[in-house]
Amino acid sequence: MYTLCSTPEELMRSRYEAFVKEDWNYLQETSVHQKKEEFNDISSIQWLKLDVIDANENIVEFKAYYKEKGQVNVLHEKSNFVKVDGLWKYLDGELFKSIIQRNELCPCGSGKKFKKCCA
Ligand SMILES: [Zn+2]
Repeated sequence: MYTLCSTPEELMRSRYEAFVKEDWNYLQETSVHQKKEEFNDISSIQWLKLDVIDANENIVEFKAYYKEKGQVNVLHEKSNFVKVDGLWKYLDGELFKSIIQRNELCPCGSGKKFKKCCA
C-alpha cells in the first residue's frame, strides 16, 4: 500500500525512491498503465540522483541520473499525473534528449566536475 501523496511532485519523488529500491509493486500501484513486468529490463540500472526541475498542477519535469553498464546518463522527462479515486497516479511522460554537461557537478555525488569523474 502506498501512503497518500498530496501532490504529483510528492508522488514523483516517492516513485523515484521506489525505482531505487526496485519496488515494482509500488510503481505498478501508483501508475495508470504501467505493469510491474515492464520494469524487468531496468533492474540493472543504478539510480544516482533526482532533480525536480518544475512541478505544477499535474505535470512534473525532472532529470533522473543513473548508471548503467558503467555509463552515467540522464533521463529527462515531463510526467503527467492524474487523480484516480482521490489518489494521484502516474499517467505517462514525454521524454527529452538531454546530456550531462562536462562542467556540471558529477551526479554520482563526488563533488568533482563530470568530465573529471564519471564521464
Ligand atoms: Zn562521478
